[in-house]
Amino acid sequence: MLFIGHGSPLNVIQPNEFRPQWEALGREFGVSRPRPQLILCISAHWLTQGWWLTGMAQPRTIHDFGGFPRELFEQHYPAPGAPAVAQALAAELRQPGTDGPLGVDGQAWGYDHGCWGVLKPMFPQADIPVIQLSMDYARPPADHYALGQQLRGLRDRGVLIVASGNIVHNLRTMRREAANHEAYDWAIAFDRQVGEQIAQGQLDELQNFQQGGARARLAHPTHEHLLPLLYAAGAADPGEPVRFFNDSFQGASIAMRSVVWG
Ligand code: ZN
Repeated sequence: MLFIGHGSPLNVIQPNEFRPQWEALGREFGVSRPRPQLILCISAHWLTQGWWLTGMAQPRTIHDFGGFPRELFEQHYPAPGAPAVAQALAAELRQPGTDGPLGVDGQAWGYDHGCWGVLKPMFPQADIPVIQLSMDYARPPADHYALGQQLRGLRDRGVLIVASGNIVHNLRTMRREAANHEAYDWAIAFDRQVGEQIAQGQLDELQNFQQGGARARLAHPTHEHLLPLLYAAGAADPGEPVRFFNDSFQGASIAMRSVVWG
């Protein structure tokens, strides 16, 4: 199971130190790790009312950004969906709060850049089916963590959970000229605190990130980029092996730290 810090959409086309690590991780699957039968991706960029799964046979690639070079808009990720699995999962999982089934989306979404921007480097052949799971941003962090706990059993059924966001994500304070080892003190502190909680298996604690006060609000003026981590944390076993990679920054206020469980 993975949490990937995705950072700038440009990371998928421009040279940077992060993408080679995604590519190397992808090559582990089918070699030192089992090849997934299905990828369930939770991206910071699909926010909905209630929780939804993509249910298309061939989800489209969504270019959910503006002001980037044409090359980025020409990127596509043609991995198939898995409509029957999406239907079954929607019926099996429970919406936190209402306890109803999840929604199945037949046309609104597809693969957003939080999803394809990391899956394309990791699994360039695009031959593993992918389902995206949306997030209800109006609901408290504990609800996201609780849904993540429901996902734990999927890992034994050949599903690779890929959560994609950023442990620190403040676009307003970004300094694009900053080197990757440079970051604000509050960004370093928040990233380190979350990293320690993950390393020590204090996964329940992650849902309380807003108690971090001013530092937490600087790290996440809006917190959609942290929420995917709560799904992975909920699905993780506190005692299982964990390792980090890409534990540096982009633009001084985007933490790229990524996590591999298992
Ligand atoms: Zn993003």
